[in-house]
Order: sequence, then C-alpha cells, then structure tokens
Amino acid sequence: MSNRRKIKGKIDRRDGLRPHLDIDEVSRFSGRYNGYICDKCDKGFLTLDIDEGVTPMFSPCFATEGCNGRAHSMGYPEGEPPAYLGEPIIHWYKPKQEEMVQFPFEIRHHIERGGLVRKATSATPEWVKALL
Ligand SMILES: [Zn+2]
Repeated sequence: MSNRRKIKGKIDRRDGLRPHLDIDEVSRFSGRYNGYICDKCDKGFLTLDIDEGVTPMFSPCFATEGCNGRAHSMGYPEGEPPAYLGEPIIHWYKPKQEEMVQFPFEIRHHIERGGLVRKATSATPEWVKALL
C-alpha cells in the first residue's frame, strides 16, 4: 500500500491548515521513516514518525554542524530508508496533554492541529540535541 495519500485539498476544509503552510501531507502515519536533504550542503538525515500526525516540509539542517541551510522533506519514500542516511536522529512524536505546558503557544496550536514535534533519539549528535 502506498504511504502517500492525497489529502491536500481536504486539509483546507477540515481544520483550516493550508498547503502553503508547508505541512508534508504524506505523513499522517506512524512508524514511517523520512529523510530531509539540505539545500545548502546536500547532506541528509533520517527521521522516524513514532506517532501519527503531520510533519513540516522544511527543517533546519541537522546533517552538517554549523550549516545554516534549509533541509527539505524527501516525502516519505517507499521501502527501506536509504542506508546512507544512517540511523534516525529525529523522532517525530505527539506530546501527551501534560507535556503541552512546556511548549510555546504556536507549537501547542500546531500540536492541537495534528502536528508532531521533534525529539532526539539515541543516535542524535550532541550539537543537534542543542538545537532541538
Ligand atoms: Zn546543511
């Protein structure tokens, strides 16, 4: 089964999220690997959705320390995650209700609309942890 689902137009009507907010619309499933490739250094990193929800189309570069590039989502490619990306360094998760207080308003708003947030994994480099 394809992990792609055409929900673009539906997002608009259902909860007011608009495609131009750069939500990656193929990411409503949990247990999905995704990669982000930096537009500046061309390096990538792997992420894993551990809850269901939506993830952003763009991310800061977490592939090269000191790079200030913008990384774009690979759109949840089919099959095994590309080996060159290594282990996932980001888990996308849905915070529990009692965890919500730690997030600023904008992030809480994002979460309440189905957005996932990042957390480190056992493979996350220290310099990336400092940016999460
Ligand atoms: Zn980069």
